[in-house]
Amino acid sequence: MKKLSLLLLCALLSCSGTPPMKIVAHRGYWKADGAVQNSIASLKAAGEIKVYGSEFDVWLTADGRMVVNHDADYNGLEITSSTFDALRQYPLANGEPIPSLEEYLEAAQAYPALHLVLELKSNYQAAYDSAAVAYAWNKVSEYGLADRTTYISFSFEACRLFAKAGGDVQYLGSDRSVDELHAAGITGLDAHHSLYESHPETVSQAHAAGMTVNAWTVNEKADALRLRALGVDMLTTDEPAGMNYLRW
Ligand code: MG
Repeated sequence: MKKLSLLLLCALLSCSGTPPMKIVAHRGYWKADGAVQNSIASLKAAGEIKVYGSEFDVWLTADGRMVVNHDADYNGLEITSSTFDALRQYPLANGEPIPSLEEYLEAAQAYPALHLVLELKSNYQAAYDSAAVAYAWNKVSEYGLADRTTYISFSFEACRLFAKAGGDVQYLGSDRSVDELHAAGITGLDAHHSLYESHPETVSQAHAAGMTVNAWTVNEKADALRLRALGVDMLTTDEPAGMNYLRW
């Protein structure tokens, strides 16, 4: 009976004309017990609640490693000019070591239904972007996660390089036209949700070009429902567990 009700609900939803929306946990599901932003615990928590995707931020260190962290600094150390070992002296607030990209990807392997949204943080220098894109691209491939990873960045150059390599890429900025992104091979937009609200035509332009549309960071139900009505495909949120009503 329960199964039948679920099937009926699915049928009703699919007939409603409202497109499904994918939910991405912003920096993992970091509000879960024992998790903090960009920790492996937050990645696992996103996998456990069976959200569509989990976003995380990466930086290249001075000695050519990659760590998962949002800010450019970590415990007073600038990541791009610090060694991996120097950064690892300081645990995250939940006691984990600051994750390497390899550790993060290995943890993701345990959640085969979870899509990864890898944000490459950039210092906007060409040499950095080139090295960082190559590192992330090769590691994702090495860990067998290429077919379920989307790359995002505020660096247009990094997005262009990921696209050139054949990746699924969403540009984070709002300063480039859909045509310009499409011409660079970039396959989607991931803009602040206010862009789609002030320029709703952006959504249809992107779809006409075969591109996906992601919105950040959407934590309020009213905003989420408005974006769904505009045709936005996916949203990135700090409240993934509270967005159940927008799942497929
Ligand atoms: Mg991010």
